[in-house]
Amino acid sequence: MPSSPYRGRFAPSPTGPLHLGSMLAAFGSWLLARHAGGQWLVRIEDVDPPREVAGAAASQLATLAAFGLQPDEAVQYQSRRHALYQAAIERLLAGGTAFPCHCSRTDLAGQHGVHRHCVAGRERPHPAIRLRVPDDSHVAFDDGLQGRFEQWVDREVGDVVLLRADGCWAYQLAVVVDDADQGITDVVRGADLIDSTPRQILLQRALGLPQPRYLHLPLLLDAQGAKLSKSLAARPVDPGDPLPTLRWLWTALGQDAAELEGIGTLPALLERAASAFRPDRLRRGSIAAAPPLP
Ligand code: GLU
Repeated sequence: MPSSPYRGRFAPSPTGPLHLGSMLAAFGSWLLARHAGGQWLVRIEDVDPPREVAGAAASQLATLAAFGLQPDEAVQYQSRRHALYQAAIERLLAGGTAFPCHCSRTDLAGQHGVHRHCVAGRERPHPAIRLRVPDDSHVAFDDGLQGRFEQWVDREVGDVVLLRADGCWAYQLAVVVDDADQGITDVVRGADLIDSTPRQILLQRALGLPQPRYLHLPLLLDAQGAKLSKSLAARPVDPGDPLPTLRWLWTALGQDAAELEGIGTLPALLERAASAFRPDRLRRGSIAAAPPLP
């Protein structure tokens, strides 16, 4: 586990404006970094052009700035870091830990999408590259909020795609390479990504990279119990009026609303939040969207 000073990050994919769920991860990771006296970075995860929305990265950064969540270093863009991902894949290929794979989704349907060996019906012009996951790859880690999490990566996930057949770097590879390259000690993000963590740990081991600490924040649910990102409440946050949203997020993160009462300016509110934040009050389970949305 890391012994160096705390470095956290927020790493949005530019697929649309920031909504309450993404702001919970942004504010939560910022608060934990500030509480630890550490640094907080922002990385735009733009490795998936087919899913990218034009202008979304700029809008996300403008929203973070409007909320006063300023990164301590220059924002990094994954689209400018391809050489790092290429070098990592070449190391894995040279060591026999990664392999080219021609299997399509349809080929793998019989295995419930879990790749254990190649069953490709035909060769593709540009194969994917996968990480070879050995049999009995049981990975366990202690999440800072959710506790012990375990997964049999070979059975539940299979050989992990690192470079997709459409030529895009997979999120799993880019995030592992970048967290290590940026010296991230603490990954704080939404609980929808906890399932990805064991395969990221396997990849760190294969590349000889340090394993950061992980803390997965609860997901926001709407009043009907559906994931917030699928409901009307997933509307973008209002960068023109950050205080009500910050107060809402503060309470959603289990913090005492009274701490932020009577504060009328953004810098004062963030300063109070940073000093009054109590990690032990964070909620573990998913959060129903009450109090009423801002
Ligand atoms: N880019 C991912 C997302 O927006 C988050 C990645 C991460 O925090 O590890 O869902």
